[in-house]
Amino acid sequence: MALISELHRLQEQHGYLRASDLRDLAGRLRVPLYKLQGLASFYPHFRSAPPPAMEISVCRDMSCYLNGSPVFTRALETEFAADCAAGRAEVRPVSCLGRCDNAPAACVNGRPLPPTAPADTQERARQVAAWARQPGGIPEEEAGGASRTWRMDPYGKPEERYGILRRLPPPLTRNEAQPLSAREADPILATLEEAGLCGMGGAGFPTATKWRLVREQAETPRYVVVNADESEPGSFKDRVILAELPHLVVEGAALAGRVVGAAKVIIYIRHEYEPERRLLAREIERARAAGVLPVPMEIFISPGGYILGEETALLEALEDRRGEPRNKPPFPVSHGYQGRPTVINNVETLAMVPGILTRGAGWWKEQGQGGCTGLKVIAISGEVERPGIHEISLGLPLKDLLAAAGGVSGGRALAAVAPGGASSSFLPAGAVDTPLDFKAMQDAGSMLGSGAVVVMAKGTDLLDVATNVVTFFRNESCGKCVPCRTGTEKAVRILSDLQGGNGSRARIDLLPLLGETLRLTSICGLGQVALDPILSLLEHFPDAVTSRLPGACDEN
Ligand code: SF4
Repeated sequence: MALISELHRLQEQHGYLRASDLRDLAGRLRVPLYKLQGLASFYPHFRSAPPPAMEISVCRDMSCYLNGSPVFTRALETEFAADCAAGRAEVRPVSCLGRCDNAPAACVNGRPLPPTAPADTQERARQVAAWARQPGGIPEEEAGGASRTWRMDPYGKPEERYGILRRLPPPLTRNEAQPLSAREADPILATLEEAGLCGMGGAGFPTATKWRLVREQAETPRYVVVNADESEPGSFKDRVILAELPHLVVEGAALAGRVVGAAKVIIYIRHEYEPERRLLAREIERARAAGVLPVPMEIFISPGGYILGEETALLEALEDRRGEPRNKPPFPVSHGYQGRPTVINNVETLAMVPGILTRGAGWWKEQGQGGCTGLKVIAISGEVERPGIHEISLGLPLKDLLAAAGGVSGGRALAAVAPGGASSSFLPAGAVDTPLDFKAMQDAGSMLGSGAVVVMAKGTDLLDVATNVVTFFRNESCGKCVPCRTGTEKAVRILSDLQGGNGSRARIDLLPLLGETLRLTSICGLGQVALDPILSLLEHFPDAVTSRLPGACDEN
């Protein structure tokens, strides 16, 4: 953590990492210079050259792509043409910014466009230019502030917060992490187990089992890491939870810490979530000042990259290495942060814990519908009238969520849905009766993942969307596994040629084989699912692909 935090500090100070600063840092911390250069070149957040006065980052990924980000990018390039030529501005397409509810999303000097930005592309670009040129840039907005009622929040009034933590006996000593006694911990674990709470970040591992496994390890110190590195195109529910329910995240993480006897809780947050980081830091301070925070808790700012959402890549970053996933086993429950037993939980998973422990497993189970149990926070974006997040009963039919979001944008018909964000297989419109539930979505041939429904309207070129998604995975592959590194590039070339009218049936037929190769040989989920969207397109919408072959009649 020390090296990456230092790199953040230096970049903050000078706008980029100067070669002289890297040399000084290497000498001061007695680390080889190549190690610092290796970190600086791996992580997309670090710059090796001075930034221009106006740095415009535009999201190019799935939900923003569906909402015209290529046209928006061109409009921005026109607006800033003279500034770019003079070196005063840079318009840079970037990976998903986690603001798919305000698509096409963009940042000016790291500050996100507010929801009040005009929807019309040209006006939006003009407004960005006006904000970028005014002193202070985009007016700073406070994240959160929405007045929605959350079923998962058991606390009616602010003074009631941290009720579960307050009921536990204080730690014996502030200097030594002690797990709760079996008398205190067992009911907590039993309740979470009975509720069936599973990881909400996409992996779905039972939370109580994970906590128990770490608690049972003989090795110390133990750690809790909160994964707030949500980077899946289409996913932004953790951002909203961090902004509106930070007290539940802090309490859930502290409870995990007490159960396993953690020496420290580290909240790993993506650097693009700066407004949410500030709110979280304030909440941690509030809890500390109120004397209800029994475990040291700190925030680590990610240096960027989708792959860091993978838990072992995240650990590598925390340990000042390039964020490449580890071979597993061993798993983090026994060999996590610094090789010690570590609980890694997603933001939403931890935020659900206080509600379950306050109201009981029975209450949690009743929150589901149609035979499913529990609540889920789902983000819906893409070509939908009102993108946003919804706290739903698991089991709610997909069509009901779509209706709650105002339906397909512009009153169009539905073509396809990616229910779990960019990495999930596309489902055809006929799947709208499918319940939003992990098992049901799997049975339907896709996955709920972290809960990121991306809607595609009839008339949208689905091959272009699938190519956009595969390109995202090509860009974000860490490069550790050769099949993932070269296979995603190969797939992008096949699809780009097809888009350009130079495809062939023989090369399309290679895609399932390539997908299977990646599935069998990639060590992490990115490579394993990278081609799923295009393979699902071949399965459900073969015409969207074959109609682009030279000589084919374009029926799309
Ligand atoms: S599958 Fe891809 S992203 Fe995952 S470790 Fe291998 S190269 Fe990196």
